[in-house]
Amino acid sequence: MAIDIKEIAEKLNNKGANKPCHRCGKNSFTILEGFSNIHLQEDFSANLVIGGPAIPLIHVICKNCGSVTPHALGALDMLPNEKATDGK
Ligand SMILES: [Zn+2]
Repeated sequence: MAIDIKEIAEKLNNKGANKPCHRCGKNSFTILEGFSNIHLQEDFSANLVIGGPAIPLIHVICKNCGSVTPHALGALDMLPNEKATDGK
């Protein structure tokens, strides 16, 4: 399933995540095509576990200063096959 940048932009706007840049105050952004994962580790002594728990993130970048702001795709209901667990 491909990332739909337009849908993500609409969802961020609907949630009020459209304020000026928290670093420079300008208001011009771009959303990267693609996502990354934060891999969650539970043990300092363990090696990096690929395929373990992770948070998929999209990134919004300020076109002026380059500040990068991640947003969890799950919070935007953008994860495939995700089951709602909060009564939605
Ligand atoms: Zn900025």
